[in-house]
Amino acid sequence: MSDAEDPTTFSPAEPTTGEEFEPVEVFPDNDDFDLRPGADNCYKCSTCDTNCPVAEVDDDFPGPKFQGPEQWRLTQTDDDYEIDDSITSCSNCLRCDNACPSGVPLSQMHNTARGRYVDEQMSKLSVEYIRNRILANYRTSAWLASKVPRLSTFVMNNSAVRWVMDKTMGIPKERDFPAFATETFQEWWAKRGGADESRRRARQNRPDDADPSDYKVAYFHGCYSNYNTTQVGKAMVRVYEELGFEVVVPEQKCSGTPMFANGMLDDAERHAKVNVSSMSDLVEQGYDAIASCTSCSMALRQEYPELFDIDGIEKVSENTYDSVEYLRIHTDIADRLSEATVEGDLAEEFAYHAPCHGRNQGLERQAVELFAELDGVGIEDVGDSCSGISGTYGWKSEKYEISMEIGQPMFDHMEDSAGETGMTECPTCAMQMEHGTGYDVRHPLELIEAAIVEA
Ligand code: SF4
Ligand code: SF4
Repeated sequence: MSDAEDPTTFSPAEPTTGEEFEPVEVFPDNDDFDLRPGADNCYKCSTCDTNCPVAEVDDDFPGPKFQGPEQWRLTQTDDDYEIDDSITSCSNCLRCDNACPSGVPLSQMHNTARGRYVDEQMSKLSVEYIRNRILANYRTSAWLASKVPRLSTFVMNNSAVRWVMDKTMGIPKERDFPAFATETFQEWWAKRGGADESRRRARQNRPDDADPSDYKVAYFHGCYSNYNTTQVGKAMVRVYEELGFEVVVPEQKCSGTPMFANGMLDDAERHAKVNVSSMSDLVEQGYDAIASCTSCSMALRQEYPELFDIDGIEKVSENTYDSVEYLRIHTDIADRLSEATVEGDLAEEFAYHAPCHGRNQGLERQAVELFAELDGVGIEDVGDSCSGISGTYGWKSEKYEISMEIGQPMFDHMEDSAGETGMTECPTCAMQMEHGTGYDVRHPLELIEAAIVEA
């Protein structure tokens, strides 16, 4: 009997090197996907689903794993596949994107699917589409309202008007409309002397041996700091000038965040082109792009290069920072604050909420760490839950209750904390914090201003 026939003799098989096999590509057109790497990396661990605040409270929402990789695979294998309408229930909070251990580009898949759903499957005459278009283009409504700011604030908060808007357009009557500033940030900036005045002030505050080319920032204020919370934009300018930075305010449109969330990618791209064009020119001249809203910095950093092909987009993405993040990286702000004392209105205990879009940029601890040593104030993190409003999501009547249910743990933690003033970097999270607790809410830049800028 030969060895081969003897069942008691074991001959190991030659190890498989794989060289004799042609690799099988599930999706042979891989180069054409136009998604960031990782599109086909989902191994169904469901971590994204367990981190989704909408799936947690809305039993009808199938969750990010379905909205992302599962639905995306269906679109790749079936030309006639119709996007499931549940994609409109994703709030674009990006928590799933942050949670996925496998680097699956969930937000990019969601934005792409939502854009396709709105383009191809949503009636352009439906009330939902028209309402979403108005919400997504907040900049246009805010521009109009800013022409008669007091009247606009009064009318938009009239209970009869709100009831009609709820019944006819699906904008929840429970929400308070934000007040419009009587002078926009841009008007204040121009009246103050614009970039020339900023250059003059910055020069006075810069150390003599400092290289001025290291002290140049271009401010992306976004819609809300321009039309509503102008105090945030002013604080940004004053704080940066105090630290020796020359500020310029380039031509800009909406960052596109509410347009992504409503599947209106053409609108978003039109705005992105203007923003990238003006910012990329300045980046070429040595300026860094700074945003005071974490959703705006998120758009410029991540969503633009994921979704659009615009000249200069990568350069802008690489040189964009959140306003507080930049100070922590490029200045001695922590030392300045550890020697400062806050007195007056802002000598308070703050209940701090880290916005989801800030978390996605790794910024969730920045305010708590920065203000830990600041005399005269206290700050407490109210936990990692989502505020629930997610930009325009909580401004839809059919989502209002879900939005408040998602926000409830944050409201509870705020009420349990020592502070009775809220703090966050996101203007819509601030609206939800105010709405759920009645607390006044401030931006970290306002506290930095109170600590280091002389009144
Ligand atoms: S977390 Fe990532 S890998 Fe896990 S199921 Fe979700 S997409 Fe797939
Ligand atoms: S973006 Fe937010 S709401 Fe949308 S699927 Fe991901 S975690 Fe859920």
